[in-house]
Amino acid sequence: MTLDEDTPFMHAALEQARLAWDAGEVPVGAVLVIGGEIVGRGYNQPISACDPSAHAEVMALRDAGQHLANYRLPGSTLYVTLEPCVMCSGAILHARVSRLVYGARDPKTGAQGSVLDLFGEFPGQGFGQRFGQVARLNHHCTVTASVLADECGAMLSAFFAERRASRRSGLARDRLARDSNRCIAGSGVVAASAALRIRRAPCGCKPAPTDTVSQRKQMKLRINLATQELDLLDDSEAVLRRYPISSAANGPGEAAGSYCTPRGQHLVRARIGAGQPLNTVFKARRPTGEVYSPELGAAEPERDWILTRILWLSGKEPGYNRLGTCDSMRRTIYIHGTPDEGFEQAPRSHGCIRMRNADLVELFDRVPAYTPVEIVENV
Ligand SMILES: [Zn+2]
Repeated sequence: MTLDEDTPFMHAALEQARLAWDAGEVPVGAVLVIGGEIVGRGYNQPISACDPSAHAEVMALRDAGQHLANYRLPGSTLYVTLEPCVMCSGAILHARVSRLVYGARDPKTGAQGSVLDLFGEFPGQGFGQRFGQVARLNHHCTVTASVLADECGAMLSAFFAERRASRRSGLARDRLARDSNRCIAGSGVVAASAALRIRRAPCGCKPAPTDTVSQRKQMKLRINLATQELDLLDDSEAVLRRYPISSAANGPGEAAGSYCTPRGQHLVRARIGAGQPLNTVFKARRPTGEVYSPELGAAEPERDWILTRILWLSGKEPGYNRLGTCDSMRRTIYIHGTPDEGFEQAPRSHGCIRMRNADLVELFDRVPAYTPVEIVENV
């Protein structure tokens, strides 16, 4: 495969890395490709998943393995934005990945030449196209380094620069609050870095760990298009909460460009907007800096408002709502907030699931990434 053929897949891996950033994780992304098609996607999420093994490569391999119903992935190419570590290199071997393509080098934990050379018999031979040299290993994987290395490295640099700035401003705010001997107004977030996840209790005395969603039992969402309701279910399928929703005006359907709401089994691929104020306006999954108001809505009556939080759905059923021309993730099917004053519990959307903003915030805080979502026409 040529560099030109590798580039679009590395861009897809960078899209995954952006999801990690949005979740407050170090932005590393990966996609697994077989026969020119992406069959697995993953992004770094060890913090939010409380899982030290939740690196982008492992998540992409798990995703592909589950959907192909095979723990081995021969003939596949793994694209990852950062040089894999020892753990991920091992997983690549166990999965029988045929080729590894990575972007930026990792001088701290890279196991493809930077710190260790796990597949190479002769460490320090340099980078680029090469073949696994360790004859005693039972599987060999070719490695191509430095594809879009500048873009991949720039995303990491920008993330850490933002985090340092955020930490500095958080510490300054904390100092100000301490000096004036009063609580910080609002939500009480001391350090804005999502990686720290530390909040100040309402009294301002002791920091307490955030009640992370991942500490709870496995939840499930069921969306009923007939009743226009979303149920939050616990692991025994008991209904914990029921919310009104608004699905597609065009009805159910899976095809790209149909503006219909896809049915079937999905999962929450990404949680976007944690900590943002109610009615924050999003465009292309990034806050625009606007906060929705009825006046803003009146000024742009045709705009499809995406507010407050986004739960980005990914289909789990290849050929029905995953991959090809029916891929829910590529169709950018979200559960998202909508202007409260215009909300109707009826099919009105362009394909997504709309919710009232306060309902969505409550739901968002209770569902971690990878929560199963079932969309049915009727129960
Ligand atoms: Zn790793």
